[in-house]
Amino acid sequence: DSEPKNEDLQRIVDLMDGFKASKALFTASKMCVFDLLQSRPGLDAAQVAQEIKASVKGTQRLLEACVSLGLLRSKERTCKKPVFENTDLASRFLLTDAPCSLRGYIQHCNDTVWPLFSHLESAVWEGANQREKAFGKTSTDMFQDTFYKRQEVQLRFMNAMHSIAKVTGQAVATAFDLSRFKTACDLGGCTGAMAYEFTKAHPGLSVTVFDLPAVVEMSEHFHPLHADNRMSFVGGDFFKDELPKADLYVLARILHDWPDERVHILLSKIADACSPGCGLLLSEIFLDEDRGGPRRGLLQALSMSEGSQRSAAEYGLLLKSHGFTTVHVRHTDSLLDAILCIKA
Ligand code: SAM
Repeated sequence: DSEPKNEDLQRIVDLMDGFKASKALFTASKMCVFDLLQSRPGLDAAQVAQEIKASVKGTQRLLEACVSLGLLRSKERTCKKPVFENTDLASRFLLTDAPCSLRGYIQHCNDTVWPLFSHLESAVWEGANQREKAFGKTSTDMFQDTFYKRQEVQLRFMNAMHSIAKVTGQAVATAFDLSRFKTACDLGGCTGAMAYEFTKAHPGLSVTVFDLPAVVEMSEHFHPLHADNRMSFVGGDFFKDELPKADLYVLARILHDWPDERVHILLSKIADACSPGCGLLLSEIFLDEDRGGPRRGLLQALSMSEGSQRSAAEYGLLLKSHGFTTVHVRHTDSLLDAILCIKA
């Protein structure tokens, strides 16, 4: 009984090593290892080191670690040094230009989430996020940062949102029959990646992306979506400005970030803009009703944003309090779930 079971031991060791695995992925991604090995598969460690301008010793260890994580494959050659190539997993998700690239989000995890989580003890202690400790005072003060620094940070954030929205957008857009809606407005729609999936999935639907003016201005960096005349962009503040008219409002990954009082302001503005029969499609990670999972929602909550993670039933109640009736809940099996509700 006192002998630990191997599988139990392994689970604990995996948890202890999880952060090392994350950082190895972030580092290889940042150093463009996967892009390099996609265009030139079969390089050995010294060749990769030369290309990424890093030490041979460090590169070799990073490549070997990536093999153990299932991100790279190594091939032994008789009397020669092993060479490396991407696994299918890396080719699908880790290349800069892959349709399902998560590289933007990985960079966000490395540059923003990682420093925040390195102060998790203080975050738990204080029940507050640790932006100031992680980034210093000036870098969170948007008005004191230089214009270029602000732009760089914003672009990085948009890249992160864009990559997740591209990967999950289709599951959200196809979660419900939306044929009765002709116009939609994606509030906080960022680069338009999610809106684009909605127009692809619903040929009769036009979508307006509403986001802060600075974000709308930069959304041009992301895609040639403007070519599609069923998509348009409007700049504004969803707490203050009038919302564009639409039959269907979309709120994807917005509510969990805001304190309750802001959530209520936003939902009542949407309710006011809706006539009876209009829809509101909410997409978030839904916690299990017993709050036992999913793990990614509970771990995300540790970043201590001022908002909170909720279950589908909790979101349903919130929406009901603003005059919406829940029609459908979908656990999509992708990274985001969705609720469709209708203004009574
Ligand atoms: N909906 C997108 C998605 O799921 O990929 C982006 C979600 S991101 C977490 C939150 C978005 O809300 C950002 O694009 C941000 O610029 C936007 N946002 C934040 N405050 C806003 C405001 N007051 N008015 C309009 N948009 C806002």
